[in-house]
Amino acid sequence: MMTKNMLDNSIMYAQGVGEVRGKVLERELGIRTMGDMLYHFPFRYIDRSRTYKIGELNENNTAAYIQLRARVIGKSFAGEGRKQRFSVYVADDTGRCELLWFRGIKWIEKRIEQNREYIIFGRPSFFRGELSLVHPEIEVVEKALSRKMESGLQGIYSTTEKLSTTLGAKGIYNVMCSVWGVVKGHINDYMPEYIRHRYGLITLEEALYNIHFPQSPEKLKQAQYRLKFDELLGIQLNIQSRRSERTGRHDGFLFPRVGNLFNTFYHTKLPFTLTDGQKQAVRDIRNDCISGIQMNRLLQGDVGSGKTVVALLAMLLAADNGFQSCMMVPTEILARQHYATLAKMTDGIGARVAILTGTTKTKERREILEALDNGEIDILVGTHALIEDRVQFSNLGLVIIDEQHRFGVEQRARLWTKNSQPPHILVMTATPIPRTLAMTLYGDLDVSIISGLPPGRLPIKTYHYLESRRLSVIRFMREQIERGRQIYIVYPLIKESEKMDYLSLQEGFDAIVRDFPLPKYRVAVCHGQMKPELKQQAMEEFKSGQANILVATSVIEVGVDVPNATVIVIESADRFGLAQLHQLRGRVGRGKEQSYCILMSDEKLSKESSKRLEAMCQTSDGFELAELDLKLRGAGDINGTAQSGMAFDLKIANPTYDNQILQLSQQIAIAILTADNALEHSEHLSLRTLRDRYAPEYKTDFSEIS
Ligand code: ADP
Ligand code: MG
Repeated sequence: MMTKNMLDNSIMYAQGVGEVRGKVLERELGIRTMGDMLYHFPFRYIDRSRTYKIGELNENNTAAYIQLRARVIGKSFAGEGRKQRFSVYVADDTGRCELLWFRGIKWIEKRIEQNREYIIFGRPSFFRGELSLVHPEIEVVEKALSRKMESGLQGIYSTTEKLSTTLGAKGIYNVMCSVWGVVKGHINDYMPEYIRHRYGLITLEEALYNIHFPQSPEKLKQAQYRLKFDELLGIQLNIQSRRSERTGRHDGFLFPRVGNLFNTFYHTKLPFTLTDGQKQAVRDIRNDCISGIQMNRLLQGDVGSGKTVVALLAMLLAADNGFQSCMMVPTEILARQHYATLAKMTDGIGARVAILTGTTKTKERREILEALDNGEIDILVGTHALIEDRVQFSNLGLVIIDEQHRFGVEQRARLWTKNSQPPHILVMTATPIPRTLAMTLYGDLDVSIISGLPPGRLPIKTYHYLESRRLSVIRFMREQIERGRQIYIVYPLIKESEKMDYLSLQEGFDAIVRDFPLPKYRVAVCHGQMKPELKQQAMEEFKSGQANILVATSVIEVGVDVPNATVIVIESADRFGLAQLHQLRGRVGRGKEQSYCILMSDEKLSKESSKRLEAMCQTSDGFELAELDLKLRGAGDINGTAQSGMAFDLKIANPTYDNQILQLSQQIAIAILTADNALEHSEHLSLRTLRDRYAPEYKTDFSEIS
């Protein structure tokens, strides 16, 4: 059944799709309708009008997809079973190269004919100076030339592993062509004329056509601009209308009293003076909590800048005014650590602190839940166990979320409903991002920044060592232990190669124990596959100073605070991203002693990896690294950690690169909503479509949290 609005028709009706592929498209890419398909944009384009000669290609061509025309001169198999590979050798009049397949070998082999000419399409790579293409697309020349192309620039679409067996990149392109045939001429533009003219935007139909089938590079640019503009404006319409809704409610809890708890702690327990940044953050929070408007604040500060104590002060302020607080953190280890810190800092001042995690025993849990409900607990620290329905507060006034990027928006939203009025919200992150960007990523937020580290910290010295220097690293570690210091050794753990990674962690641990034997040394180990009690025990041994060395996976990535640890050795450092390396490095340099970060790697490093490690050695400034990270990753790839907690699902705009459009869209949204908050004026009615299209998608992804 065809519906009135063409774009709402099921994708199954598109030529070449049908029920089976339709289901796979929905499952894999969330594409249900023709409209969804149209908004599945290419992530890059290749110039199909250009065919390269093999002899022309060199190591500078490895970034982009290219097209070759060449004849098959031979084929061969190598390896067995899962490790089997299939090579096809092709040549043109300037040279020869190898095409390589690791999967789908049977299927591809049937399609390769000796001596036949093919159009080959893929990404060149070089090994020892020899050109090869891994998993290229191929098509016999006659067929490729006979096909009518919509455009010389062909869009390349992302697919998934599962989808690629039924619809490869080319398959998706073909479906897009048939969808276009159905919908063209039926695309309504929701952008008011006056905005289109003022900002020089092409029509929506023109934009959608050219994003898929660019008629020229210039047209492609205009299409991208228009669609980015739409996306960011749609998001801003949501953010700004939520903001005015929130600030218009005037239902923020009031914390007017700076009372006993706050003052006693501040004047008698606080072991240091606050930095200016910390003071300002406390002031911002205090102002929010007497404004009558619910606080929704992001506290940014580099690793080690001292966010925890700001959180504590805010929670004491809440308690002074008769409100409870909770602090949600992403891992059990972090929860225990925060609990220990808070319990110690508040010891004897009369604030009641408790902890609740997934491993809290039934009896204890019952007691805590009861005390919480009775108002006998002021501060509750915990993991996502805190959002369960059975956790009921008597008067929750403040919610603090540490390491924001680990939580989805929905998880945050669920904490809001734990009191009759929404509690104040403070989210803390070490990921440095500008304000408008932060709002785009996380929703409607005010931002406080703690810049700089507490005084007296020596910058961490970072070195990159190759495997061949391991002995001197071990010597250095012994020296540091002689001086009473402690050491982290971190192994990468990547989901795809989990088994191998645990193996290398185990081997590494065995080797370390051999190099640092009992009774002189004590080595603890902590990783994700261990029982929580054992993890906890290992952490405690290390925290208390009993263990000299902690061998760990990246479970220690966030927040762990052991000031006596002055060395972190990161194994296979090239396998970590820059943001993660920086987080890991932040585990040291927390005391007065000189700290060291040692990045270990093999001799063989890609250009990008060695640039990353070099950057780490050059600077310890998180903001600088974040910028470099973006440069190294290139456009279209926002910092993965920032992305995972995102409130909005961006399809085309990159808030970092498209900052100008972002700012513009914010101004326009504010102007429109100030004049017409509900979008009721006739010229704005159609903008509701845009606003609703980009309403935040609440994610329920708990998988990241361990
Ligand atoms: P992060 O911002 O990474 O969460 P923490 O809150 O864990 O940082 O603080 C890092 C360390 O710095 C802790 O040991 C903390 O006690 C200490 N610290 C925090 N603020 C100050 C300060 N103003 N002066 C000295 N040390 C501080
Ligand atoms: Mg922290």
